[in-house]
Amino acid sequence: MPNAPEACDLLIDGGLVLTLDTADRIIADGAVAITADRVVAVEAAATARVRFAPRARIDACRRLVMPGLVNTHNHTPLVITRGMVEDMNFAPMYTPRVPQGYRIGAEEAYLLSRLGAWDLLRTGSTTVVDYYRHGDSCARAMAESGLRAFVGGRIHDIDLAAVAKGEYRYDPAIGEATLRENVDLIARWHGHDGGRVRGFLAPHAPDTCSRELLREVAKVADRSGPPVHTHLAQSPDEVAQVRRRDGRRPSEVLDEVGLLGPHVVAGHCICLDPDEIARVGAARLSVAHVPIGNASSGMMAPIKALQEAGALITLATDTKSHDLFEAMRTALAINRVQGGGRDINARAALRWATANGAAALGLAGVVGALAAGMKADVILLDADAPNLRPIIDGFSIIVHSGVGANVRSVIVDGRVLLDDGRPTRFDADEVIAAAQDVATRLWAESGWSPVLARTGA
Ligand SMILES: [Zn+2]
Repeated sequence: MPNAPEACDLLIDGGLVLTLDTADRIIADGAVAITADRVVAVEAAATARVRFAPRARIDACRRLVMPGLVNTHNHTPLVITRGMVEDMNFAPMYTPRVPQGYRIGAEEAYLLSRLGAWDLLRTGSTTVVDYYRHGDSCARAMAESGLRAFVGGRIHDIDLAAVAKGEYRYDPAIGEATLRENVDLIARWHGHDGGRVRGFLAPHAPDTCSRELLREVAKVADRSGPPVHTHLAQSPDEVAQVRRRDGRRPSEVLDEVGLLGPHVVAGHCICLDPDEIARVGAARLSVAHVPIGNASSGMMAPIKALQEAGALITLATDTKSHDLFEAMRTALAINRVQGGGRDINARAALRWATANGAAALGLAGVVGALAAGMKADVILLDADAPNLRPIIDGFSIIVHSGVGANVRSVIVDGRVLLDDGRPTRFDADEVIAAAQDVATRLWAESGWSPVLARTGA
């Protein structure tokens, strides 16, 4: 007599399943069975239908099923600068007349962060790193969104009002306050919702943090163990300032204070000389590669050299469109423009956006692939979208032609957050309208005349 079927909470049934596991298994008519927050089986749909008695089912017969993406560097309140700052300068913080930083209040940051979370979710990022001033606002938006989120604050001891005008003034009181805020944020949010939200320390960058402050951050990280996220070698200005101040290059300063290692994720890593590439690689630093943000500033990170030197490459969208599919494709294109060739291919870019991101965040073997025992973070793409055909090897079309808008359903911790294009936890129209109101008002206060305010829309 056949065994009675096993109960499971959810069966994603009948899709083209790309496991992105170590064997790169592809199951043409596959199924993913989920109970609570875990995947319990990834196997042929024909077998799964007999084996499981699911409480709920998603028909995936016209879907491409894959692990959710890992997006390792974002500042969601800065969605307010999207579509504007790209034509002005390399980063909002260093640009005058941009509504950012101290001009954004806590509630405004929260409303903007909700828009960022919606964009991240809609485009298939299921594990995200988010940090900015008003870290609580980001944390609250991420907690509500259902995304797996790492949240931090913004530690610096520079006077930010001055830096937009190109002046560097350090004030230990600012450093002490911003470090304390970040430590308090971690105490409040780390472990929220069964560990779905976690905290980290976020010293902004080697030029906006003095060496003394960076040393303090390293001590706190050593003592209590949170991972560290920072920016590194983001611009020639940063390199010039750190050399002026300390007589060293930014990565040397991080190394000296104990912030160059596998526990650190560093965004950008653009302006590194060959010695620094070797140093960063030897330290096994995790690099949050932001190909679109860098390129829109006219810059390219030496990603292939960093990977060959030993750094762990991950992918991120930073303050731009949160579509990590665009970022994968752009990363490959930039590597080839740099003469990097085709050995870094679509599968490699997918690895950066999944398993590598997971490893950088301490979630190796937990997220970033579909396998029994791993967290149930799954995305379903519309396999009938014209830009996703023809499907031949399964990987390349996603990277070279896929877009975030192909994502139809998103599951995190076994919970359906996007159900065939509709968010299940919030009203998308309300989220968009509230963020638009904030942006319209703050850009107007900065001397711009937002077009929607003029048309009354
Ligand atoms: Zn950044």
